[in-house]
This record gives sequence, C-alpha cells and structure tokens, in this order.
Amino acid sequence: MEKHDSKYESIEKTLSAIGKATFVQFYYEFKDTTIFTEELAQKILLNKPRAKSSNQNFRIPRARHIFEKGKELEALQIIMESTNVDLASKRLAKEIYDKETSHKEIFEDDEEDFKDGVNREILYSSESNSYEYDNTPKPSKKKTVIASNTYVRSKKVAKNALSKAGFVCEVCSSHPLFKRKNSNINYTEPHHLVPLCASNRFSEIDLDREQNVVSLCSNCHNHLHYGADIDDILKPLYNMRKILLEKIGINITYEELKKYYE
Ligand SMILES: [Zn+2]
Ligand SMILES: [Zn+2]
Repeated sequence: MEKHDSKYESIEKTLSAIGKATFVQFYYEFKDTTIFTEELAQKILLNKPRAKSSNQNFRIPRARHIFEKGKELEALQIIMESTNVDLASKRLAKEIYDKETSHKEIFEDDEEDFKDGVNREILYSSESNSYEYDNTPKPSKKKTVIASNTYVRSKKVAKNALSKAGFVCEVCSSHPLFKRKNSNINYTEPHHLVPLCASNRFSEIDLDREQNVVSLCSNCHNHLHYGADIDDILKPLYNMRKILLEKIGINITYEELKKYYE
C-alpha cells in the first residue's frame, strides 16, 4: 500500500529521491515488476558500490510508483530537460523515450511537440551535430499523409538539416538569432522548401529529406508562411537548393514552387 510520504508528492521529488541517473540506468528493471525488489537492489548496489544498501529500499518502490501511475514518459522528459543530471544520463533518457514512443511517432502532428522533439534531438542525441548529404533518391514513405494537412516529419532529418546549415538563417547568416534553452546552439527552425503538401505531385519521391529542409530564423520562417512579398526570401533559398533537389529527384521550377506558397 502507498504510504503517506511527501516524496510521492510530485514526479520531480520522487525522481530526486530515486536519483535521476539511477532511474534511467535501471529503467527497464524498474518497469519489469517480475524482477524482485531484493534482486534489483543487489543489482543496483553492484553498479553503485558506494550506495548504501538501505537506500535501495526506498528507491525501488518509488521508481515503480512512477510506472504504476503511468508517469514514466513524463519522468524521462524531466530528466532530459534537467540541469542537474549528467549528459550520458540525458542521452540514455532520450534513447529510452524515443524507443517508448516510436510507435506513436505517426500521431505526432502537433507543432509544439515537433519543435520540442527537434530540440531534444539537437541537444541530447548522441550523434554529433555534423551531417553530410545522402544524395540517393528515396521513394516516398507511404504513410506521408495522416490527416488532411498533417504529414510525417522526421526530427532527425530536421536536426541534420539545421546542423548542416550551421544553425544560422539560410536567407542571410547575419539575421538575428537567440540561443536554444539550456544550450549554446542557435535557435533556427526547419522548413521544407518544397512543402510536404506537394507530396501529391511528387508521389514517388520522399520530400522529407535534408536537401529539402532549410534552416530559417523565426522571422523568415513566419514571413514565408504568412507574409506578403516572399520573393526576397524564397528565391535565394530556391537558387541555393535547386541542384541539391534535382539530385534526389525533385525537379521543380521557381514559378511552380512559388504556387505552393500562395
Ligand atoms: Zn515552414
Ligand atoms: Zn532569416
């Protein structure tokens, strides 16, 4: 039975009691309730020889409490965004989070979720922030369209494209930018030059490719989507990417491209 214990008040507090690093390191063992507490306590102790054996007594029920309440994804997110946990644990938390949510990827149509996802990809992915184009044309992913105007986008592709651009605005590298939260990396937004809604025309070709994703400052991005007189922004981007797009089978004139922005 659940005791009345202030440590259960919030996930934050519960996590601090467990130890954030311990929570991710033994995530699957905490999750698997067929593993006996004593057995798991031994295992944790072996990995953390300086931990007191009595510590495990409160760690394990607390960790399992998070799973009972179905708060494990929230807990992983807290760890990824925490400032008092080591980078290796953050990366592990992200890996686990990605695995646990991979089957949900297709429903990820919320813009804020996507931006948060790209942010985590940039900050906590163990892969380095350098990327070289893969110029093999790829067939379109069949399930591109989920709802009438929602498309599957890869966070990894977005991250690769932003890092390839050096995290500056590709319209002009001197456009003002700010840093990402908890990071030294500039905040720029990924934008599909040939929009994913053009998938009908390019039904055989994957449009969610790094060659088709540009890095933009917030202002240019909003200008492109919602502003008038976009030629000064769209034209240089088109000229810059035209050949790269052709390499992966996306052939489009400027006039045709501009139609998608009207
Ligand atoms: Zn956009
Ligand atoms: Zn800009």
